[in-house]
This record gives sequence, C-alpha cells and structure tokens, in this order.
Amino acid sequence: MTEEAFDVMVVGSCMTDLVSQAPRLPKAGETIHGHKFFIGFGGKGANQCIQAARLGAKTAMVCKVGKDFFGDNYIQNFKDHGVHTDFVGQTSDAATGAASIIVNNAGENAIVIVAGANMLLGSEELQKALPAISHAKVLVCQLEVSPQTSLQALRMAQENKVKTIFNPAPAIPDLDKDFYRASDVFCCNESEAELLTGSSVTGVEEAHEAGQELLKRGCGSVIITLGPQGCVVLKAQEPASTKHVQTAAVTTVDTTGAGDSFIGALAFYMAHYPTMPLEEMARRANQVAGVSVQAVGTQTSYPFKKDLPAEMF
Ligand code: AMP
Repeated sequence: MTEEAFDVMVVGSCMTDLVSQAPRLPKAGETIHGHKFFIGFGGKGANQCIQAARLGAKTAMVCKVGKDFFGDNYIQNFKDHGVHTDFVGQTSDAATGAASIIVNNAGENAIVIVAGANMLLGSEELQKALPAISHAKVLVCQLEVSPQTSLQALRMAQENKVKTIFNPAPAIPDLDKDFYRASDVFCCNESEAELLTGSSVTGVEEAHEAGQELLKRGCGSVIITLGPQGCVVLKAQEPASTKHVQTAAVTTVDTTGAGDSFIGALAFYMAHYPTMPLEEMARRANQVAGVSVQAVGTQTSYPFKKDLPAEMF
C-alpha cells in the first residue's frame, strides 16, 4: 500500500500511436510509400493524466500495458513526467494498446485501434489501487477500458468521498445509468452529448438543453465542450443557471487530444483549488486546451505549468 495522497488518479487507457503520412490512403491489398513516420503516446486516460502532471499535479495512473517494447516505453513516459507507476500493470496476455494511423495529404485519416491490454484492466488492479484511490483528491475515468472497470473505479472513489470526473468517451449508447450518479463532473463533447441524449448538439443553445437532460440523470455537474466555442457548465445545485464559458480565439494547428487536455486541466484545478467555482476551473481548462491546439501532436502539444501565465495558478 502506498502512503502518498495523490492529487489526481486516472483509471484508463494507454495507446501507442503509430502514425504514417502518405500522399493518399492505400486501397485493399495495396502497398504505397509514405513520407513520414512517427510514434506518439496516446490513449485518453494517459493523455489526461499527463496533462494534469504537466500542470503540477501529483498523479498516479491505473492501467494495463503489454509486456512488450511499447509497454516498457509507455512506463518510461509516465516516469519522465513524474507519474506514479506502481499501478501500471504489464501482461503477457495481450499487446500494449495501439492505434495504426494513416494520414493523407488532405489531412484525412484511416485508423485501426487495437485496445489490447487496456481491456484486461479489471477488479484485481483496482483492488490493489484502492488504498491510494480512497485517499486521492480527484479520480478520472473514461470508456477506453471495460465500462465495468470504469464504473467500479468511480464507485470506489465515491464511497470514499473522492471527487470524480467521468468522460464518457468514446461514447456508447445505453450508458448504464449508474455512471451519471457516480459522476461529480460528467464531461463530454458535442458528439458524445448527442449520442447520449439522442438530440442534435451543435452549438451553445443545444448544448444547454443536452446538459439539462444529462444533469437530470443524476450527475453533480455537467460540462459539454464545444471546440472553439469553449464549453457550457451546468450544476445540479443551480439547475436553472447554465453558463456558457467562452474561450479565446487562437490559430488552430491540430486539435487532436484537446478534449483530454481540457479534462486533465480540470482535474488539476479540482484537486488544487477545491473551492474555486466550476465555471472558473472550466475557463482555465479552456485556456490550457487552447494552448494544446496551437501545436501538432497529442501529448507533445500539452503545455507545462512554466509555459502558462502565473495568474492561472
Ligand atoms: P472539443 O473536444 O473539440 O470540444 O475541445 C475541447 C476543448 O479544447 C474546448 O472546450 C476548448 O477549450 C479547446 N479547443 C478545442 N478546439 C479549439 C479551438 N479551435 N480553439 C480554441 N480552443 C479549442
């Protein structure tokens, strides 16, 4: 058992992105030459954890990778960021999660994701992490591991009065209602809100309505992110006052992983400034994610505390 109290614990996924840039996407059975290849660290859970760590949160990751090169490499990435890795399991039964991505000259892509070891994260690993989870300030979950594992982690946190952030991504229809009740903050983007509510969500007005519907299902608060329009924030304590939190216009280079940057930042603010109004945390999380869209890559684009104005801390 660890005696350390973590600011932010993330129970979620790790994926290695294998990215090839080519003039066009190959047809079935075809081999073509590409002009650039790179390997990136991804997976929603790990992305969120790395963003929180870069802002200065004391973090721990609960996840599973393969006993392979990519798994070893990912553990080193966590260590390089000061993320606690005692709860990062390695298995011989599956490979580290991987996303094979081909991007053509028009910026379109074709992606195959193999979740691999992520799907083997389960009760055993959560039980090992329970002493740490029960003392953490904030726990964050998504849906890139088995939904049962995410729900169990959220319940563990809730039973121990640990604040929870749930990001229902990638969204699944007919999400178990208990996810809403186990979420202090339920944070999703427009397309996820649309899938969960069955109503169109494009823009601020519809996001207010979708937020009201999600709030009714039992969450403490709802945040729906809106890309360049920032986000809307709704609270169960003040259901009538939906707030639109705008964000500054920036020159967008690559929005991959912006939602994860937002959630990692939100987790950091909830842990460090528990009495700050949620709208203010969302405003600052917009600023952090707004920096991430101005550079290429996923984790590579996430700002560190030193890159941000002092008044954000
Ligand atoms: P999304 O997942 O696209 O809703 O984006 C998540 C968050 O990233 C938003 O709430 C914004 O804070 C930020 N963001 C995304 N796209 C942009 C953009 N084009 N300009 C500024 N901020 C953005």
